[in-house]
Amino acid sequence: MSAHNGKVAPAAFPPPVDSQKEFIKRGLDDEDELIEVGVAIVGGGTAGLACANRLLQLLADDPETLERLGEVPVAVVEKAKTCGGHNLSGAVVRPQALEELFPEMTREQWREEGFAFGEVKKEAVYLTPTSKLSVRIPTPPPFKNHGNEVISVSALARYQQRQAEDAGAYILTETSATQLVVEDGKVVGVRSGDKGRGKDGEPLGNFEPGTDIKAKATVLAEGCWGHLTGAAIKEFDLAKDREPQVWELGVKEVWKVAQPLDRLIHTMGPWPLKISPKYGQIGGTWIYPMKNAAGEDLVSIGFVVELEYADATTSVHDLLQTFKTHPLVRKILEGGERVAWGAKALPGGGYWSMPKLSMPGALLVGDSGGMVDTMALKGVHHCIKSGMIAAEQIYAALKSGSSDLSAYEQAIDESSVGRELWEVRNARQPLQKGLLIGGALSGLQQISKGKLPGRADWHRNDSKPMFVGNTKDVYVKPDGKYTFDKLSSVFITGNATRDDAPNHIRVQKHVPREVAETWRWMCPAGVYEIPEDAPEEGEVDVIVNYTNCVQCGAITAKGGRLTTPEGGDGPLYQIL
Ligand SMILES: Cc1cc2nc3c(=O)[nH]c(=O)nc-3n(C[C@H](O)[C@H](O)[C@H](O)COP(=O)(O)OP(=O)(O)OC[C@H]3O[C@@H](n4cnc5c(N)ncnc54)[C@H](O)[C@@H]3O)c2cc1C
Ligand code: SF4
Repeated sequence: MSAHNGKVAPAAFPPPVDSQKEFIKRGLDDEDELIEVGVAIVGGGTAGLACANRLLQLLADDPETLERLGEVPVAVVEKAKTCGGHNLSGAVVRPQALEELFPEMTREQWREEGFAFGEVKKEAVYLTPTSKLSVRIPTPPPFKNHGNEVISVSALARYQQRQAEDAGAYILTETSATQLVVEDGKVVGVRSGDKGRGKDGEPLGNFEPGTDIKAKATVLAEGCWGHLTGAAIKEFDLAKDREPQVWELGVKEVWKVAQPLDRLIHTMGPWPLKISPKYGQIGGTWIYPMKNAAGEDLVSIGFVVELEYADATTSVHDLLQTFKTHPLVRKILEGGERVAWGAKALPGGGYWSMPKLSMPGALLVGDSGGMVDTMALKGVHHCIKSGMIAAEQIYAALKSGSSDLSAYEQAIDESSVGRELWEVRNARQPLQKGLLIGGALSGLQQISKGKLPGRADWHRNDSKPMFVGNTKDVYVKPDGKYTFDKLSSVFITGNATRDDAPNHIRVQKHVPREVAETWRWMCPAGVYEIPEDAPEEGEVDVIVNYTNCVQCGAITAKGGRLTTPEGGDGPLYQIL
C-alpha cells in the first residue's frame, strides 16, 4: 500500500458543497406563487410526526388559534413515498413518551395497530470472543430493557401519519425540502424540490418546479443532521461552543423465523470487530423478537458501528453478514428467511454535540438535534418527547401572537430528554480509546453519572486518518440464502430511484485510494466503485452509482455529503 496509508483523512477532500449558498434561499417568492401554511414540519419520521400529532391535539381544543393558522394549520414535508419509508431503528423503545403522545391508547392497542410487538420480559447480553464462542454476561445498565417495547419505527410513522391526517394535517409525501427560506434573519419557511429533472439537471417532459412553503414556524425533523439542518447550523452558528457531531452506522435485517425468540439479545463483540485503537472499531449487535400482521414470528437483527474507525475496509453490512454465521445467531435464524434489509446512520455525540436547538422562526427536533443516547442505543422516546415539546412551545407562541421560540432550548434541557442525555454526557467518548481501557472508563462515567473521570472531547469522524487494513479478510462470501451481498440487499428495499435522476451525492471524484476505499467499503448500498485498472497507490477515480443509495447518511460523516434526492426516490421500508 502507498506511503500515505494511514495518513489520509477524508476531511482533506471535502465535498464540493456550499450549504449556505445552495440550501438557504434569501426571501420568499411573490404571495401568489407560494403555499402558505401555519407550521411547516420537514421530515415525517417519529419526531416530526410527534410534533404534528401534539400540535393538532392542542389546536383541536382552541378553534381561535386554529383559525389564525389558515386553511393548512400543519404541513409535513416528507421525501419518502409514504411516511415511514425512510425510517429505520432497532427499535426497542422506552414507552413513556409514546404513552404521553397517545394517552388514550393501551400497549395492547399499539400491537393491534401493527407497530408494536410486545413488552421485553427477558433479555441476555453476550460477549463473542471468537467466531464460535459466546459468553453470557450480567446485563450492563445501558442494556437493561425490561418493560420496554419492541416496535417498528417505519410502521409507527405510518400510524402517526394517519393520526395526523385525520386531525387535519397536510402531509406532502414524495416531496423533498431543498432550501430553507430566510428573510430578515428569520426562517420563514422552506422550498420544495423540483421534480422531473434529468441527469444533468435539464427539465424533462414531466418537469414540475418546486414551491416556497411559507410558515409562521418551521420545524426541522430531518433525522441525523439533514441538509437543511446543516445549512441552518451554519447560517445561525448553532454549533458554536459545542463538540462536533459524531456518527454511527447501523445495518438491519428482519427475518421470518421457524421458532419464536423468547428474549432480547445484545452482543458487545469483540468478534468480528477489531477493537484495538489502531482499528478503532467500536460496535455491537441486537436481536429482537417481532411478529408480522399475520402473526408470524420475526426477528430484527442489526449491527451498529461507530464511524470513528480507521480501517478503510470496515463494512457494517459485511460485518452483519459475518456475525450471522456465529452459532449463537445461526441457531436463531436457521430455517428462516430474510424479509427486509435497511441501513441508517445515527448521531452519537450526545449532550455536548447537540447544536443550539432554536433559531429565529425554527426549531430542531429528534435526531436533527442530536437527541440520541448511544450508550443505550435509544433515540425514539427522545424524538417523540422533543417533537411534543416543540409543538407545545410553538402553540404557546402562536396563541400569544409571539414569534419567539427560544424558550424551547430550556424546555428540552429541563425535560426527560435533557436530564437523561446529561447523565450519559461523558459515557461514550472514552470508547474512542478502544474497548478495553475505554470500556472501563465508560463504566466509571456511567456509575458516577458523568462526574468521573469527567468530560472528554470528540473529534470529527472525517478527520480520522484512514489506512487500508485487513478487516475485509473476516467477511464471509455471500451465499444468497443466509448471507447476502449489498446489491441484492438494496433490491429488497423497494428502492425506486430513477436511473436518469440527478446525482444527489456530493463527493470529490479523484481522491487517494485510502479515501476511495473508505467510501467503497462503508457504503451499505454499494454506491462507490473504484475502477479495476486504478493504480494501487496514489489518487484514483471514484464511480458514484448514486441510484443505489438508500439515503443512510453515513457519507456525510466520512467526507462526502448526502443532499436531498428528488422526492419519492430511495427505499420504501415497511417494517424496519
Ligand atoms: C440502526 C439504528 C438502531 C437504532 N436502535 C434504536 C433502538 O433500539 N431504540 C431507540 O429508541 N432508538 C434507536 N435508534 C435511534 C432512533 O431510531 C432514532 O433516534 C429515531 O428513529 C430518529 O427519528 P427522527 O424522526 O428524528 O428521524 P428519522 O426517523 O430519520 O426521520 C426523518 C425523516 O425526515 C425525512 N427527511 C429528511 N430530510 C428531509 C427533507 N429535506 N425533506 C423532506 N423529508 C426529509 C426522512 O425521509 C425521514 O423520514 C436507532 C437508530 C438506528 C439508525
Ligand atoms: S451513498 Fe447513500 S447509502 Fe451509500 S453511504 Fe452515502 S448515503 Fe449511505
